Amino acid sequence: MLVYFIGTGGSEGIPAHLCTCSTCTEARKFGFAQRRPSTLAVITDNRKAVLFDVGTDIRDFLNVPLEAIFLTHWHHDHIYGLYKLRWMARGTVLYAPKGSADALILQDPKNLRPRILKPFDTLEVDTLKITTLKLNHGVETLGYLIEEDGKSVALLYDTKGLPEETQEFLEERAPLRLAIVDATYPPGFDDPYHNNVDEAAELGLRLAERTVLSHISHKNLPFLELTDYVRKRWGTRVLVAYDGMVFYV
Ligand SMILES: [Zn+2]
Ligand SMILES: [Zn+2]
Ligand SMILES: [Zn+2]
Repeated sequence: MLVYFIGTGGSEGIPAHLCTCSTCTEARKFGFAQRRPSTLAVITDNRKAVLFDVGTDIRDFLNVPLEAIFLTHWHHDHIYGLYKLRWMARGTVLYAPKGSADALILQDPKNLRPRILKPFDTLEVDTLKITTLKLNHGVETLGYLIEEDGKSVALLYDTKGLPEETQEFLEERAPLRLAIVDATYPPGFDDPYHNNVDEAAELGLRLAERTVLSHISHKNLPFLELTDYVRKRWGTRVLVAYDGMVFYV
């Protein structure tokens, strides 16, 4: 499978409107440092596309039929793109947790077909086996373990650490090929709902061969400083996501 990082930012995106912080200022100089809100696609070995979160309008990035759409949770930075995508010309199942579901989407889903998932549900989509995971966030949030042909990827945002049952479940399946982990904040920053860079990297290193840090806020270090920090500390085992990044699993 291929993992396609369409959006790797937090709620505000980078650069945030009118913000003059060093991260946003850098992103106005270097296009690669700009981030749309969280949106990720998996392209299966059969070249089918499955979407995980829709934080942005995907039409310029992924204009193919979707086998399914999965939401991690209903915070706005993970669902904005749904308001436009629901008008797509083909009926598509939208899997999501129940917590804080968006009333507009549920009452008027257009061509979306919403279905509710619970933690540790398993389903098959094309060649993928997908298991929902429980995460630690302000609202009910699902992570996903995505398996294909003996290889596995864990999608772990938004979260602060992991609940014990999720940690144990993933440890039994370790080492995963890839962990994609919420790294919203800079090293040393403590938040009840999101990891900082160190917490995210350590979480991923325990579970997977490679870790990609994503869901990165403008409050985090500027892109070049962040990649430098990560490279010096963890070598190539931990990578900083960027919009447009493709990872072959
Ligand atoms: Zn988020
Ligand atoms: Zn900023
Ligand atoms: Zn959130």
